[in-house]
Amino acid sequence: MVTIPPQPWPTGLAEAVEPLVLRVLAPNPSPYTFTGTQTYVVGDPRGPDCAVIDPGPNEPDHIAAIIAAVAGRTIVAIMCTHTHRDHSPAAAPLAELTGAPIVGCAPLVLQVDGPRSDEAFDPTYAPDRVLVDGEGMRGTGWTLTAVATPGHTSNHQCFALEESGALFTGDHVMGWSTSVVIPPDGDMGDYMASLEKLMARDDVRYHSAHGAAIEKPKQLVRGMIGHRRQRENQILRLLGEAARPVSGFIPDMYKGLDPRLIGAAEMSVTAHLIDLEKRGAARRDSEVWRLA
Ligand SMILES: [Zn+2]
Repeated sequence: MVTIPPQPWPTGLAEAVEPLVLRVLAPNPSPYTFTGTQTYVVGDPRGPDCAVIDPGPNEPDHIAAIIAAVAGRTIVAIMCTHTHRDHSPAAAPLAELTGAPIVGCAPLVLQVDGPRSDEAFDPTYAPDRVLVDGEGMRGTGWTLTAVATPGHTSNHQCFALEESGALFTGDHVMGWSTSVVIPPDGDMGDYMASLEKLMARDDVRYHSAHGAAIEKPKQLVRGMIGHRRQRENQILRLLGEAARPVSGFIPDMYKGLDPRLIGAAEMSVTAHLIDLEKRGAARRDSEVWRLA
């Protein structure tokens, strides 16, 4: 289990994490967000302009802390990695206060035929411009390039800071926990492909939306790919022992799990099962999964 570091956390403070990057922690700690969402302000602190990545929840104190970190610079773009409610709801009020455009990930197209998946999504998100993979935003002395990384959500993007080699990874790869993949919008096959995509890059450091900076990114991503393969093998082994519903995997796979996270664990197992089903290795009869 992950332990949350003792208080005080740097909530509301602008921390310099590299010469072109300030980090501001939002006041929304939880078992899903660790100490809270980290907003990044990118650009020379003494320069004329900057970008804001993942403005976070619509909390007046947090928006005030972002504006204090911006310190009078022009915000060229408010950029969101994806539209979970801990990432994008502050985009609209920040845009209204500053006149900055909202640029980055696409709004989410919710599936209407599957189970409702929109509880965690921000329906207010309305970008002025959607970036496609490889497209960038530029300011004075900084360039951010979108790297499409679907999986955690279908609209997830990372942003590469070309001047320093840093990658802002949102919830795709985090500094405190593996990413939660919740079907039907979350897709385990896409998530694995997006991890492989990062393995093919040479980013020197990751700044994620939750948890510490990641200084050995490939080592972590390799470990995450291994972890998911191990989970998949566990699922296949358990299916080989007996057909079972999703809840029947949890006691074997998540020993000592915080009860508040059982729902998330079941979603993650479901994401693996759907991926195995797509690949012809598993099938379901109503709620019961078995080997194909
Ligand atoms: Zn998320």
